[in-house]
Amino acid sequence: MKTQQVCILGATGSIGRNTLEVIALHPDKFSVYALTAFNNIEMLVRQAWESRARVVVVPDDTAKRRFTTLWPEGRPLPEIRIGQEGLCSVAADPDVDVVMAAIVGAACLPSVFSAAEAGKRILLANKEALVAAGEIFLNAVRVGSAQLLPIDSEHNAIYQCLPAELSGVVPDQPHQSIRRLILTASGGPFRTLPLAELEDVTPEQACLHPNWVMGKKISVDSATMANKGLEVIEAHWLFAMPADKITVVIHPQSLIHSMVEYIDGSILSQMGAPDMRAPIAYGLGFPDRIDSGLSSLDLFANDSLGFERPCLQRFPALRLAYEALETSQVACVTLNAANEVAVDKFLQNKIRYPDIAAVVEQTIDYMVGRRHTTLAGLDDVLSLDATARTIAKEFCFARNA
Ligand code: NDP
Repeated sequence: MKTQQVCILGATGSIGRNTLEVIALHPDKFSVYALTAFNNIEMLVRQAWESRARVVVVPDDTAKRRFTTLWPEGRPLPEIRIGQEGLCSVAADPDVDVVMAAIVGAACLPSVFSAAEAGKRILLANKEALVAAGEIFLNAVRVGSAQLLPIDSEHNAIYQCLPAELSGVVPDQPHQSIRRLILTASGGPFRTLPLAELEDVTPEQACLHPNWVMGKKISVDSATMANKGLEVIEAHWLFAMPADKITVVIHPQSLIHSMVEYIDGSILSQMGAPDMRAPIAYGLGFPDRIDSGLSSLDLFANDSLGFERPCLQRFPALRLAYEALETSQVACVTLNAANEVAVDKFLQNKIRYPDIAAVVEQTIDYMVGRRHTTLAGLDDVLSLDATARTIAKEFCFARNA
C-alpha cells in the first residue's frame, strides 16, 4: 500500500501531538504532509523538522517570519501557507489522503468543510463541526464522497461496536437493531464537590481532569459536562440517533469509552486505557488495526467499574445540549458559540464557573427567541456563530460588571 500523506490541522494541540506520536511508529505507512499551528510556532518548528513536513500553516505574516527565523540551518524550509485560506488549501490538497481535524472550536469549520468537499479521509476529533453544522456538514461529506471517522473516544468506541454493515458509512437513519447509544463520561473533577462550592472553583481546578490529559477548553467542558452535551449532538448526527436514544452515564474510571445497546438487550462496549492514541491509531489504520504505542491495560489494577446517573443540577450544560438538539440547529450553533466564549472568559477569570452554563442558556434563549434563520450552508452557520458570540460576550460582560 502506498504511504498515506497526512495533514494535521491543529498539530500543536493535545490531539495533534498524539497523532504525530502514532505516525512516528509507522514510517512505512504514513508521511506527514502538512502541519498547522496558531500560537505555538516554536513547537511547530520542532514538529515540522522532526516529521519532515512539506507544508506548514501559520495564522499570519508575523508568525511566518517567526517560523522562518526559528528554522534551523541544514534543511530547506517547508512551504509556509497562511491563515484560514492556508488551512483550507492544505485540507483539500490533492497530495493529502488523510486529514486529522484537531483545531479546537468553530475555527476548524472552513478547513473541515474543505476536506469534506475534496473527498478526504477525515479523522474528526473536533466536535464543534458536527455540533454547529450538523446536516450541512454531513451533506458536504456525502457530496464530496469523503470518509468520516470519529476520533472523539466515545464516538470512536461506538463506531467500533456498530454492526459490520455500518462500518465506514455515515447512516441517514437509525439502524433497526440498535436500541440506544450509551455515552460514558468521567464526571470531571467536580463530580462529588458539594454544589455550593462550585461557585468558587478556579480555572486551574477545572482543567485538572481526573483521567485524561487534554487541551484547556475541552478540560473545562469535561468539568461542566458541556463536553458530553456536545458529544450527544455529535452522536445524533454521526449515527442518525434521536436524542431520546442517547443516554449519558457517568463512569468515573474512564475505561469503558461508550456502549451500543441492541434490541435483544446485549450491550457491546469498547474498553481501554484513557489515551487518545488508541482512537487515533484506529482512525489512521482503518479498517486495519495498527500499533498505537499503548501497552496492555492492567485489569487487576482496576477492580471496579462504576456507573452513575448525571445530576442535571450539577451539570446544567448537559441539559442545555439535549434541549438545543430538540429545539433547532440555530440553538445548537448558539450553544457551541456561547460555550466557547463563556469558557474563554472563565479561563481569563472574567466570569465564575456557574456563569458558563448560565451565559449559554441566556444566549440560546435570546437567539432562538429572535432568529428564525434557515441555515443553508457554511456561510450561514459562520454568520450565526459570529452573532451568537457577540451576544454571549455581552452576557459575560454583564456578569463581570
Ligand atoms: P488543544 O487546545 O490542545 O489544541 C488546539 C489546536 O488548535 C492547537 O494546535 C492550536 O494551535 C490550534 N488552534 C487554536 N485556535 C486556532 C485557530 N483560531 N485557528 C487555527 N488553529 C487554532 O485542543 P485538543 O487537542 O485538546 O482538542 C482539539 C479538538 O479535539 C477539540 O475540538 C476537542 O474538543 C477535540 N477532542 C480532544 C480530545 C483530547 O483528548 N484532547 C478528545 C476528544 C476530542 P496552537 O497550540 O499553536 O495555539
